Amino acid sequence: MADERALDEVVTFTSDLIRIDTTNRGGGDCRERPAAEYAAARLAEAGLEPVLLERTPGRANVVARLEGTDPSADALLVHGHLDVVPAEAADWSVHPFSGEVRDGVVWGRGAVDMKNMDAMILAVVRAWAREGVRPRRDIVIAFTADEEASAEDGSGFLADRHAHLFEGCTEGVSESGAFTFHDGDGRQLYPIAAGERGTAWMKLTARGRAGHGSKVNRENAVTRLAAAVTRIGEHEWPLRLTPTVRAALTELAAVYGIETDLSDVDTLLDKLGTAGKLVEATVRNSANPTMLDAGYKINVIPGEAVARVDGRYLSGAEDEFRATMDRLTGPDVDWEFEHHEVALQAPVDSPTYARMRAAIEEFAPEGHVVPYCMSGGTDAKQFSRLGITGYGFAPLKLPEGFDYQALFHGVDERVPVEALHFGVRVLDRFLRTA
Ligand SMILES: [Zn+2]
Repeated sequence: MADERALDEVVTFTSDLIRIDTTNRGGGDCRERPAAEYAAARLAEAGLEPVLLERTPGRANVVARLEGTDPSADALLVHGHLDVVPAEAADWSVHPFSGEVRDGVVWGRGAVDMKNMDAMILAVVRAWAREGVRPRRDIVIAFTADEEASAEDGSGFLADRHAHLFEGCTEGVSESGAFTFHDGDGRQLYPIAAGERGTAWMKLTARGRAGHGSKVNRENAVTRLAAAVTRIGEHEWPLRLTPTVRAALTELAAVYGIETDLSDVDTLLDKLGTAGKLVEATVRNSANPTMLDAGYKINVIPGEAVARVDGRYLSGAEDEFRATMDRLTGPDVDWEFEHHEVALQAPVDSPTYARMRAAIEEFAPEGHVVPYCMSGGTDAKQFSRLGITGYGFAPLKLPEGFDYQALFHGVDERVPVEALHFGVRVLDRFLRTA
């Protein structure tokens, strides 16, 4: 059981890490090193031997290994990113990098995504050092840079260049799962992520015949692009249920006492109401046009027009995604990936999943643990290249009115002290039994 000091430390660490501004503006504009040094120092105090690794100066990652008692057991990766998305101070009630603790709540950018989990990992490991606890499996701890952009300076770099540090790791746990989801009707769900959709950020290029805006032109690149973008935006993607999404729907239906009819998922989602939101973005592929770029003068038809589309595809549905994009773009518009990441699928019948579930149920007996698939992606995608199956498990017990999904990258991101305490207790329990 996590001791009193661990409960104090998780709050201090969350607050301290928030105060270290690690805003990732993309394009390499971020400096995680001070946060990495902070985390490494806390691990070293607990007797671990963390290493700092940088591909680019200032973009530091931390990796440490805690030796388990059973050398034949597979190792478990526990990871958290150190960078955060930008925050506009003027929009906030409390300065986003103050780390202020006010009325039992820690405020600031990273309070839920994901300096909270970083702090929980540190607090648990240090409690174990005081108590002399050794886990059964080796536990590899990684704090990464660059998750909020390309991961090239973070988990991607670690997976490519420092794979040996993750030797033996078969499973990993990190963000975006095990938080309280209030359905607004008194029920509390604890979704554990067991899959992620793949990322397909695409550039569309329409080519045509440049010319004067007053002339007849049947090969107008802007018109061609606009038609393709409209087809993509209006496309109704067919249902594709991955094993995780199937399990999510089945278990949610059981919680709500609804007859499961997976042949009519849209009706089932309707009946699930608010809880359906956990699943609705992951029953299909998706492609949303997000950027348009063409032309330089109103009376000149440009020879080229460009759009960008945020596509996401489910595990096992990538070929279909590509074929659909070929068809929707048509012969006059080319498309290519600007950024492409794999889809993930993790089993929900694994011993590790069962242990995560049990740890939550012990401290939140009123909650219903359900699996779900993330609509977006995390560092787990990069670590999957090392054969590591990723789960989203960063436990937080949130009171009603704390909308986790809205706080994620949102204004006034904050986390109750009680939620952090719950997180430490559950993480401690899970990692002890993992
Ligand atoms: Zn995150």
